[in-house]
Amino acid sequence: MQKILEKIKENKILVSDGAWGTFLHKKGLKAGECPELWNIEQPDVVYEIAKSYIDAGADMVETNSFGGSRIKLAGYGLENRTFELNKAAAQLSRKAAGAEKHVLGSIGPSGKIIMMGEVTEDELYEVYKEQSMALAEGGADAIIIETFTDLQEAVIATKAAKENTSCEVICTMTFDKSPDDKFFTMMGVTPADMVEALVSAGADIIGANCGNGMEDMIGIVKEIREANSSIPILIHANAGVPEYVDGNTVFKESPKVTASFIPALIEAGANTIGGCCGTTPEHIKKIRETINTL
Ligand SMILES: [Zn+2]
Repeated sequence: MQKILEKIKENKILVSDGAWGTFLHKKGLKAGECPELWNIEQPDVVYEIAKSYIDAGADMVETNSFGGSRIKLAGYGLENRTFELNKAAAQLSRKAAGAEKHVLGSIGPSGKIIMMGEVTEDELYEVYKEQSMALAEGGADAIIIETFTDLQEAVIATKAAKENTSCEVICTMTFDKSPDDKFFTMMGVTPADMVEALVSAGADIIGANCGNGMEDMIGIVKEIREANSSIPILIHANAGVPEYVDGNTVFKESPKVTASFIPALIEAGANTIGGCCGTTPEHIKKIRETINTL
């Protein structure tokens, strides 16, 4: 199969998938339940989510393994099943993707802070090495390290995936917008800081996910492009800004509105576009249609 980078080099704009977390909750996952355990206990539901994004026209689909690091799984007493749960996640998405579409093995942050001494760099490296190897073993052809706010942790995860698998490695961080329209992660990292550190760590594709709707992602892409004119950029935007309804966070932006920002996002320099919280197969379908008309 052609690599993601090769397709991007041919000037193709690729479509990624939409939300997993909010989708799993819609399918009945309860607060406090381990999402990754569903790879074994509710495999049909996990497969259906992956398949619905492929059917919507996505070129790639993630895996149900965002919280699948040994550190996160330990919160459920499931740390000894780390390899099994991640491998199963990749197998389910591979089954949905077939031989032609890509599987991005999802890796989320550990939740531990290096600066506070909660975890060491070496421990984190081993944790991310184990998770990326299990995802590769299950059939992932890329690893996506996503929703990171600490650059040091993102660099360690990128290196662990790059050095221990033959997968392409994508790393995206989550930025908030300051009142003067600049972007910073919760830990104070700018898009330009991210570019420099992740490119030297070996990331093949970088970008942003979560935290913003498609509209604000345009500014982030511009900041990345100012810092680096050639690194491929992937964007996974939420379905608009979160609203709070009856104590729940909901994302209400319609597929049509999300898709309306796509031309400007591509103009700014994005190469691969998909969704994060609140996006559905309908959003992905609309993004696909929009890109096909450009
Ligand atoms: Zn999100």
